[in-house]
Amino acid sequence: MALHRIYSCLLLLLLLLFSPHTLIRCGALRNYPENEVTLLDSMSTPGDLGWETYPAEGWEEISVMDERNTPMRTYQVCNVMEPNQNNWLRTGLISRGGAQRIYVELKFTLRDCNSLPGMSGTCKETFNVYYHESNSGTAPPLRHARESQYVKVDTIAADESFTQTDVGDRVMKLNTEVRDIGGLTKRGLYLAFQDLGACIALVSVRVFYKRCPMVALNLARFANTVTGGDSALVEVRGACVEDAEELEPPRMFCSADGGWLVPIGSCVCKSGFEEADGRCQPCRSGFYKASAMDAYCVKCPPHSSSQQTQASECVCERGFYRAETDPGSMACTRPPSAPGNPTSMVNETAVTLEWSPPRDTGGRGDVTYSIHCKKCLGTSRSGGPGERCVPCGSGPRFSPRQLGLTQTRVLVTDLQPRTNYTFSIEAQNGVSDLSPGPRHLVSINVTTSQTVSVIVKERRSKDSITLAWQAPEPSDGTVVEYEVTYYEKNQRDQNYTVLKTKSTSMTVEGLKPGTTYVFRVRARTEGGYGNYGGEIELETSHEDVLAVGDPNQQTILAVSIAGGVVFFVLLVACFVVSGRHCGYIKAKQEPEEEKLQFQHGRVQLPGSRTYIHPHTYEDPNQAVRDFAKEIDVSSIRIERVIGAGEFGEVCSGRLRLPSRREIHVAIKSLKAGYSDQQRRDFLSEASIMGQFDHPNIIRLEGVVTRCKPVMIITEYMENGSLDTFLKKHDGQFTVIQLVGMMRGIAAGVQYLSEMNYVHRDLAARNILVNGNLVCKVSDFGLSRVLEDDPEAAYTTRGGKIPIRWTAPEAIAYRKFTSASDVWSYGIVMWEVISYGERPYWEMSNQDVIKAIDEGYRLPAPMDCPVVLHQLMLDCWEKNRGERPKFNQIVSALDRLIRNPSSLKQLANGTVWEDTTTPESDVSTVEDWLDSIKMGQYKDHFSNAGYVTLNAVLYVSISDLGKMGIALAGHQKKILSSIQSLQLQQNPHVQV
Ligand code: AMP
Repeated sequence: MALHRIYSCLLLLLLLLFSPHTLIRCGALRNYPENEVTLLDSMSTPGDLGWETYPAEGWEEISVMDERNTPMRTYQVCNVMEPNQNNWLRTGLISRGGAQRIYVELKFTLRDCNSLPGMSGTCKETFNVYYHESNSGTAPPLRHARESQYVKVDTIAADESFTQTDVGDRVMKLNTEVRDIGGLTKRGLYLAFQDLGACIALVSVRVFYKRCPMVALNLARFANTVTGGDSALVEVRGACVEDAEELEPPRMFCSADGGWLVPIGSCVCKSGFEEADGRCQPCRSGFYKASAMDAYCVKCPPHSSSQQTQASECVCERGFYRAETDPGSMACTRPPSAPGNPTSMVNETAVTLEWSPPRDTGGRGDVTYSIHCKKCLGTSRSGGPGERCVPCGSGPRFSPRQLGLTQTRVLVTDLQPRTNYTFSIEAQNGVSDLSPGPRHLVSINVTTSQTVSVIVKERRSKDSITLAWQAPEPSDGTVVEYEVTYYEKNQRDQNYTVLKTKSTSMTVEGLKPGTTYVFRVRARTEGGYGNYGGEIELETSHEDVLAVGDPNQQTILAVSIAGGVVFFVLLVACFVVSGRHCGYIKAKQEPEEEKLQFQHGRVQLPGSRTYIHPHTYEDPNQAVRDFAKEIDVSSIRIERVIGAGEFGEVCSGRLRLPSRREIHVAIKSLKAGYSDQQRRDFLSEASIMGQFDHPNIIRLEGVVTRCKPVMIITEYMENGSLDTFLKKHDGQFTVIQLVGMMRGIAAGVQYLSEMNYVHRDLAARNILVNGNLVCKVSDFGLSRVLEDDPEAAYTTRGGKIPIRWTAPEAIAYRKFTSASDVWSYGIVMWEVISYGERPYWEMSNQDVIKAIDEGYRLPAPMDCPVVLHQLMLDCWEKNRGERPKFNQIVSALDRLIRNPSSLKQLANGTVWEDTTTPESDVSTVEDWLDSIKMGQYKDHFSNAGYVTLNAVLYVSISDLGKMGIALAGHQKKILSSIQSLQLQQNPHVQV
């Protein structure tokens, strides 16, 4: 027995002598992963471990040096020569630190019995690990240790052990085994190691549990979290970092192995703060952030500033104001200056006042005008000294109204005749009431009049006629000049001549002999032109004699010295708007000029392509009347419901207008119970759409407003909205067809941009497709443009923006221009090529904004030609001035359509092999099928009766199924090729 013991001790020594490398490595193992929390580490315990052993000659604690010459404690046992070994070693109480599952990592060496010469059957190569849970800090004594008192964790065998090398040396390997113990509930536990006769050195015992380490994500901080007891995930609520607030409660799952999964929800920086490096930092002075929902601090708008950091709004400069309803992103504004150039046109007891908008609108678009009226009694001219002026009271009537006019014109009626009035016109805007300053008015004096008659004397020669007339009464205003208009009788349509004079007579020269001319005279006073009186016809003499007018032939010509008339308006309009000098000798008016008319303070030249915003109309119903045709409801037949719009159902149906063929239409109706505002918003789409006329813009047929429900009738687009259409036909079009669709959309938006219309919500969902694959831009409503779009997200107070489709400058400071439409168009291109894929997939809106700001751009979709992706990237230039214009985009796409080989190089570096586009010279069904490598289906087609290519054009997917062509890939290929055939037959479907 003693001999055995000595032998075992020798072996034990060997065990350690051969272990230096092992110990060096042990020393290097003291850095543990971040997600492991160590409860016990025998290697880093200073001094004796002092674990309990039984019996005394069993496990033995010995000291060895690690590579840093630090003593470390190990337990060893090697009673391999003696039978019936049952040696126990037990740790002290290990607190479980709140974990329900702990891990035990054992590092040990174990000698294999074969390597020990002369070993009897007593030698073992395993040992057992047990544990005992305890609240009290006591454990069952080892002397009587029974397995029932300790729960067995496992029997541990070495996977490496001493092995014999060629040269006879022994090399020791360190074994590492990890076991986990779950379901722990008590304060702590003891670990126990049972040796039944092996030669073991227990170099290290480490007990740890796992946790998900503290982390900050999406501006939320998640605390250290102990993993769950079983394999369940632990849900953890995050806390927003300083100066952030919850957008959606931040949560994350901590997995059993100490890793975080799937962040949900997020925090956003409060108003006045923006995100930087995962923290919320205050806006710098001069910058502000109004709402937590805004991504970044932005520069204070013009005429405002923020002196402090963390500003959530900017303060207006002195003299500038912000109206209650103004968004914080809007520049501060001031009251307008006075209106300019007041003119009056008196027509007896009525006067039309006109003026020009103030030179300085104060930076706002909501300028309105109010008229103040005074009646002046006295002998002198209006406003003169000694005159007594009193407010007009309720006598005069103002049309359309006296206060809050949006037009620069008002008609005042019911004035007293031959009376002096002073009208003061005041310009106001949304901040006028906030300004303590004086009001800005412009005044004009007006004298009402009565018609007077003028005697005209005439003298004639072969080529001249002399006219004379009587000056009107001075009380009708001082005459500035007279205007004489004449034309050759029966030649009125050709030209007429206008002459001016300050005197009351004029000799008109250069006339044809023996020719009758028609003359009219009118006077201009300070108040403007009077009406023409009646016309006088005079004939030049046949011979060159001076014919003095017989007083008996005096003709009475009535000239109204009223303040002003329509002709004057036309002349002024012509000067101001067309920039053309009409001249006094005026050729026959072009139809275009004849239609010159005032529209809301601006003169609109028919044919000039400028869109008029319905909001510029004081009466929105007038806008509808101007731009949309009223349709009699009896001409409409509703057939079925095809969709749902913001205001009600969308149906398809038929429209038959008198003497026109019946057409297929879409009918949008306004649901019952609408408010006035909703009715206006609903019809605004018609007022806008009705101004457009282009093959790639949805065409308005008319409106029904005179009976309920109110309806908007447009052309019918068989294939509905582009996004749904593309998803339904995923992969079925040739790239040329796709480019054709894009070209159509670009042409439509080019037209809009030329009309100065910015769409703001270009997206495949707002493009409609007809039966010929023609794409047309739709969705023009005012409120609905953005409010109705499910993709639109709120950015700042009151504004919604479809983030994924919108240019960064439009998101950041609402700079919506045709260049921002170009950005959106690039996204539409991407949607088309990817067959309706969602831009930026499931990235959150915030992430999209951030990624774009950092320079990220959507990659090329699958099978996307490199030229198209490059065009998209051009549309997504950060600097909007560097983006292409729509006419350039249309030309670029036209070049690609003309030269399809330029589309072959794909963005992923490969070259496109289009096997669906048939050769253009195929003429039989057989040739066609061969050309697309589908020759195996020749019999299928002929058996089904498709013997000509024309018949094939109408084959559908269900027809293919009926023919017995069942493979989805083949169906797709054949249908795609049929579409190419249709295209070859009808090339205009591409635009
Ligand atoms: P909207 O209110 O314009 O968004 O229309 C709602 C839905 O009705 C659209 O998504 C289309 O599916 C359908 N729709 C609208 N206008 C037409 C049209 N002119 N032709 C065919 N379908 C239309």
